[in-house]
Amino acid sequence: MIPIRTGQDHIASLRDGRDVYIYGQRVADVTTHKAFRNSVRTVASFYDFQAQPGVIDTMTFASPDTGRRVNRCWQLPESYAELADRRRALETWAELHFGFMGRSPDHVASCISGMFMGIELFEAYDKKRAAALRDYYRFARDNDLFLTYVIINPQADRSKSAHAQADPHLAASVVDEDAEGLTIRGAKMLATSSIMANEVFVTCIQPLVPGDEKQAVSFAVPMNVKGLRVLSRKSFEESAVSSFDNPLSIQFDENDAVLYFDDVKVPWERVFVNQDIDMTLKQFHGTPAHVYQNYQCQIRLLVKMRFLAGLAHHIAEANGIVAFPQVRDSLGQIAAEVGLVDGLLHGMEAKGGRAGAYFVPDRHLLYSAQTLTQQLYPKVITAIRDLAGGGLIMLPSSVADFDDPLLAGLIEKTQKSPAFTPQERVKFFKLAWDALGSEFASRHVQYEMFYAGASFVARGHSYRTFDWAKCKGMVDGLMASYPTPGQPVGETAAAE
Ligand SMILES: Cc1cc2nc3c(=O)[nH]c(=O)nc-3n(C[C@H](O)[C@H](O)[C@H](O)COP(=O)(O)OP(=O)(O)OC[C@H]3O[C@@H](n4cnc5c(N)ncnc54)[C@H](O)[C@@H]3O)c2cc1C
Repeated sequence: MIPIRTGQDHIASLRDGRDVYIYGQRVADVTTHKAFRNSVRTVASFYDFQAQPGVIDTMTFASPDTGRRVNRCWQLPESYAELADRRRALETWAELHFGFMGRSPDHVASCISGMFMGIELFEAYDKKRAAALRDYYRFARDNDLFLTYVIINPQADRSKSAHAQADPHLAASVVDEDAEGLTIRGAKMLATSSIMANEVFVTCIQPLVPGDEKQAVSFAVPMNVKGLRVLSRKSFEESAVSSFDNPLSIQFDENDAVLYFDDVKVPWERVFVNQDIDMTLKQFHGTPAHVYQNYQCQIRLLVKMRFLAGLAHHIAEANGIVAFPQVRDSLGQIAAEVGLVDGLLHGMEAKGGRAGAYFVPDRHLLYSAQTLTQQLYPKVITAIRDLAGGGLIMLPSSVADFDDPLLAGLIEKTQKSPAFTPQERVKFFKLAWDALGSEFASRHVQYEMFYAGASFVARGHSYRTFDWAKCKGMVDGLMASYPTPGQPVGETAAAE
């Protein structure tokens, strides 16, 4: 049997000639480039972690086809108990990065696993495309691959649909179709983790309209496929000064990139939807895919919220303000907000139900969580910054200041705290700034606000999946119990 994937296996798999660009240059090797190497090592450590004897059963399960141990993110739960086992694995992995890696390998794996749970939908659509998806799920699972995805068309003119942009191939779309497969040209945003993923799943989750058929595709390709260009944003890892100064940016910068498909050939065995608007949307919402991918996000966010609450309490201790009633009030509010995320997560599991053979978290509680946490995250960050005051800024320029005896002495005299030594105080507030205010932290606010779509999109899902009939029925029942002028008791004019 093939042994479990290791960190070294993962690092080796990224030395594949992928076409990544940053700061005007092509990257020869993402695993050694200073913009990416630490994050690559962080992800590699996740694979090493799950292989350890003490956690291997929590983190992995035996592939039903090969027997190889692979991460539980590929597991298809058939009961609440299996869902909870799977969650414990995802939560444990998220604790390794304190929730700061949004597109860790379990995110898109959850999406593809959810799509596979709805394979009947693909069977009804097209048997060959269903076979492609089935084979791909098994291939990705059995190799425990790190997948990322790009499911959003690049911003340009959002008042026009995909095909009506000035360049009809601005968004990745079909330019040719032959016996081998499709040829794809155009861009997609925003490929988080793509520099350290093995493959990318490409499709469109935004609503498409008639005329957008060429953009209505769904496929997966390796990150080194010919013609795929990866245009990285600025690296926070590279601009991090040291692990003392930027303890999060230096190791958890998962990177984001624009992908450009420069006439990329996609073989039919990797095409799951071909130029079908209805099916492009249904692959997410007619299967458990969208629920599973966003359920993973809530598991990760809970870990991050706990970490942020820990920061908040330490800030209060560091400045001797923890006993002030107003500060306890703020901490109590933050604690309640962590409880909200915790409660919604466990609620969506407990209220989950069956979809065919599988157990799926409750859709509406998931979309409630998504809607509320998009708003909550910037609010919690602001609340913690409010507790911290100027301590986030009243800091030596870098760890190098400690090397100068004069400066070290002045730091000793000025960085005072009832809870920390001067050196610990600086260390702690540098960490707090990296989580709350640095460029890395600011990107995280944008991430939590947008990773699952703009806020009106999340609210739309909440509206669509809520049990309005039950709620309106209560109102109607009460109104029917007392007379309306001109109508017999029992009759009401329902709005819908
Ligand atoms: C840090 C980060 C990482 C990301 N990682 C990924 C990833 O790995 N994979 C991926 O596929 N995507 C990723 N995304 C993209 C993410 O899915 C999108 O940002 C999100 O779907 C919103 O789309 P948009 O950014 O184009 O915003 P837009 O859709 O352009 O919306 C921006 C704002 O414009 C207004 N607006 C736009 N359209 C309408 C409308 N129809 N009605 C009313 N108001 C409107 C709203 O105010 C909205 O908030 C990432 C985004 C961020 C910020």
